[in-house]
Amino acid sequence: MDDAAVCLQVAIIGPVRGIFDYSAPAGSPLAALTGCRVRAPFGRRERVGVVVGVAPSQVPAHRLKPITALLDPLPLLSPSLLALARWAADYYCHPLGDALGAAFPLELRRGEPPRDPSQLCWVLTAAGGARLAEGARLGVRQLALLRLAQAAPILESALAALAFDARRGLQQLVARGWCEQARLAGMETDDATPREAFMALNPAQNTAVESILAELQRYSTWLLQGVTGSGKTEVYLHLARAASALGRQTLVLIPEIGLSEQLVQRFYRRFGGAAAVLHSELSDRERALVWARCRRGSVRVLLGTRSAVWAQLPDLGLIIVDEEHDPSFKQQEGFRYNARDVAVVRARNADIPVVLGSATPSLESELNAARGRYRRVSLPQRAAGAACPILLGLDVRGLVLLGGLGATLCRAMDECLARGEQVLLFLNRRGYAPLLMCHACGWIARCSRCDARLVVHREAERLICHHCDADQALARVRDACCADQALITLGLGTEQVEDALRQRFPGRRILRVDRDSMRKKGQLEAAYGAVRAREVDILLGTQMLSKGHDFPEVTLVGVVDADSRLFATDFRAAERFAQTIVQVAGRAGRGSKPGTVLVQTHHPDNPLLQSALKHHYDSFVSAALAERAEARLPPYAALAVVRAESANQQFPTEFLTGLKRLLHARIPAEVTLAGPVPAPMERKAGRYRAALLLSAERRAALALGLRELLPAIEQLPQRTRVRWHIDVDPQEAS
Ligand code: ADP
Ligand code: ZN
Repeated sequence: MDDAAVCLQVAIIGPVRGIFDYSAPAGSPLAALTGCRVRAPFGRRERVGVVVGVAPSQVPAHRLKPITALLDPLPLLSPSLLALARWAADYYCHPLGDALGAAFPLELRRGEPPRDPSQLCWVLTAAGGARLAEGARLGVRQLALLRLAQAAPILESALAALAFDARRGLQQLVARGWCEQARLAGMETDDATPREAFMALNPAQNTAVESILAELQRYSTWLLQGVTGSGKTEVYLHLARAASALGRQTLVLIPEIGLSEQLVQRFYRRFGGAAAVLHSELSDRERALVWARCRRGSVRVLLGTRSAVWAQLPDLGLIIVDEEHDPSFKQQEGFRYNARDVAVVRARNADIPVVLGSATPSLESELNAARGRYRRVSLPQRAAGAACPILLGLDVRGLVLLGGLGATLCRAMDECLARGEQVLLFLNRRGYAPLLMCHACGWIARCSRCDARLVVHREAERLICHHCDADQALARVRDACCADQALITLGLGTEQVEDALRQRFPGRRILRVDRDSMRKKGQLEAAYGAVRAREVDILLGTQMLSKGHDFPEVTLVGVVDADSRLFATDFRAAERFAQTIVQVAGRAGRGSKPGTVLVQTHHPDNPLLQSALKHHYDSFVSAALAERAEARLPPYAALAVVRAESANQQFPTEFLTGLKRLLHARIPAEVTLAGPVPAPMERKAGRYRAALLLSAERRAALALGLRELLPAIEQLPQRTRVRWHIDVDPQEAS
């Protein structure tokens, strides 16, 4: 083949569809460039791209533009990750450049060189050694740090595993000349931090670990179902250790980081600096460093939120997805992938096992297990021997409620507090009240940009839209309604319940946990620390409280209002509700004391609520699956949604109607087109939204249909008047 005719196929990093041909500088070893980043002219600018292949070009050689610079002498992206990104771009109908972007930290997306993964560390100086030898009077922490440094250099990655602010302590030691900073190159994964011992497994855990280990060398998906507290985390730890002993890396995907703090700490205590965390709260620099350490192989266990599924792990041997049902694994904007599903594909490609763990598996995973595609292992009992909580519905019809709390719930709280135990109250709505109305004229505070009401936030003295974050001062309402102005609020938020608690339980220490009260970094961890240290009597909060945290002294959980969840519109509402109830119940009585869960409702006979209360998630699952099968919804159908939005109310519907017309002739008959319909809340942040739904019983049929989608959109002149996107496997069907 004539070398001049061969070109570099480049995907531009970012939401750019298509792959573009460029010529390479003469004499480049073309075949070795796949996976390297390049800088290349694109439009009027230069952009960073990734070479995704080398092939003869359709464009005559003299018209090919040359790349401006080759950024990596060796491929930065492994062939397996490139293949995964290609698969995902195809499956989710999304630009490859965005999928590749997900695989790099920001610095690399911008074209900067990768970070040096050699590590900062602290070593003992002669002066420090002398100080230790003298037995000089030193603070406890200083002494601990000096002894650690004496044993071996203290790696930066090991600091997180130390309970106190070791970085500051070390800075002080450096200032005194007792320690100094150095860099350690290479693969050190070991450090001198004492490690917590691994627990002896109980028989159920043992069976789970043994079954999975027996298959460690090939692909299989495991559904590890175990109630909260049944010891799933201990199973993950043992599996990661076994993989590590074989020289393989483990990837552990977790929901939002604030909610997984305890799990992360446990991994640090077992694996020290060989464990690392990747999540969105890290600085760009920190992300780039962890990324480089993973790629180098010095991270043996990587824990991370959704985007960590794209981390480069050359010796990857095991993937774990904790709380696999959690909605945060699905990215809801831009590149709309589901990290759990990508993890399963990654494991299949790499021929390694993947473990999906949950107390309340998604209906998708339940069906996959029922059909034998996933293998199920269960942990039926709580590991530490605590009894399962008792769940009871409380009929609040016609009762006087104080800040949403009925007399029965209050009495139960009195008893619990009198025993010196803690109470957890759950209400999934922040703010003071979801509705502000004038009793004189009927005026209601609405968002000017959304079809939504403004939520009253008393603490901030503002009215806030929970959909677009627009806000205004509460005081300004005076100008909005009538002269008689008699403002009342309707409904409940956590601020209001907090007020009521302070009145009803004077002298009790009350802590509210929601997005408003926990704005700052570290606040949530501090709050959990206070609860465990028993500095809190009543813990009140939203969703944030229903996951991942162990509160052994909490023996009573109150769900203030179950009804708002029972009557939501989206098809996953029932599943989410049952998961929340079971998860919230899992917070209670994890120590030696049994827990009680009281659920206030106006609909005590609701069958869904009944099945969730029986604490038989399994019975809920069979009922819910039957409903989904009947309605031909996932997991019995594959869905994709095309959404469009515009400031003009007509444009989205016109675009989608045009699209539907084009698709009709082209897609398989098995694929059903529904809509276009306006979104449940049509106007959001000043834009009107509509959706077209594609569904098919067989995923393969849907995939054929989706292939027609982009070419059809390209043909529609109306596309330029809207913003549109495709959402494959959406959380909501509209
Ligand atoms: P999960 O991840 O399912 O919520 P954990 O692994 O956090 O469960 O275990 C719950 C509690 O039980 C923890 O306090 C843990 O230390 C304890 N535990 C787990 N496994 C064992 C075991 N084999 N023996 C004794 N205690 C255990
Ligand atoms: Zn709004």
